[in-house]
Amino acid sequence: MSVSVMGEKRGAESFVLPELPSEMLPLHEYDEIHVNVSGGADSVATALVALHGYKIPKDKIKLVHMRVDGNPNDHTKRQLFDWPQTDAYLEYMSKMLDLQLIVLWDDLSLEERIRERGMFPSSTCRFCTSYLKRDVYAKWVRQFDDVKILLLTGERSEESKERAEKPVFKLHTAHATGRKNRTVHWLKPIKAMLKTEVRQLCADYGIELHPCYQWVSRCSCKFCIFNTSAEMSRTSQLFPEDWAYLKQMEEELGHTMKSKDGISHSLSAFIKEDQIPLF
Ligand code: SF4
Repeated sequence: MSVSVMGEKRGAESFVLPELPSEMLPLHEYDEIHVNVSGGADSVATALVALHGYKIPKDKIKLVHMRVDGNPNDHTKRQLFDWPQTDAYLEYMSKMLDLQLIVLWDDLSLEERIRERGMFPSSTCRFCTSYLKRDVYAKWVRQFDDVKILLLTGERSEESKERAEKPVFKLHTAHATGRKNRTVHWLKPIKAMLKTEVRQLCADYGIELHPCYQWVSRCSCKFCIFNTSAEMSRTSQLFPEDWAYLKQMEEELGHTMKSKDGISHSLSAFIKEDQIPLF
């Protein structure tokens, strides 16, 4: 495709790995390619590289998204953590890329998991990601036997030291030999890409970014445990009722979402709410 860019002109082809990991099958031997999508720019770039870089046929690619607030049609579940724009954005992404979208969720929402455990997730006990994302995907994939699946996810080395140290390829936990004969290979195809390259690639292919980037730097839960104070302050003002509900949850649980050096900090203190002018 023809692209006009602010920086260097690069198509998705230029982000293809020079060599695929030796443990992988030739790409055409996979029955399905799953791209885990959050709605964030990295997930868009991953899908673009799969489609236009590796030239994987569209009918083999599925965009797979895991909601953390559970079934969107179950009105007993408060939509507390997922951005309200994400469902529509994923529909847009699916339409723009002409790729099938699968949306999954766990029976219990993130709020229900938090209440069940009596605590908020943290960087050392990140049960939000494990229960609501990783396990939900693995459970869904384990339904399928006699299949060869390649999972693509959009982690990048630039994001953190932890991510940089993780391998570009591994066998997924849902991989099973023997009777199940289920291959699930997990590749991080944009691991080496930079944020600027990701944004540029999305622009080059005419894909608008999720609106949340106006307020936060990463497209994750609107009240993500990793939000900075400034980000949390912005989301608190965007969703005042949810914010009040979240602060109430802290009181009910006797546990705060944020702590530093072993000392708990209420959400209110974290964003220095008492210093935000009302008018
Ligand atoms: S975005 Fe943040 S809060 Fe949401 S699941 Fe991921 S780490 Fe947990």
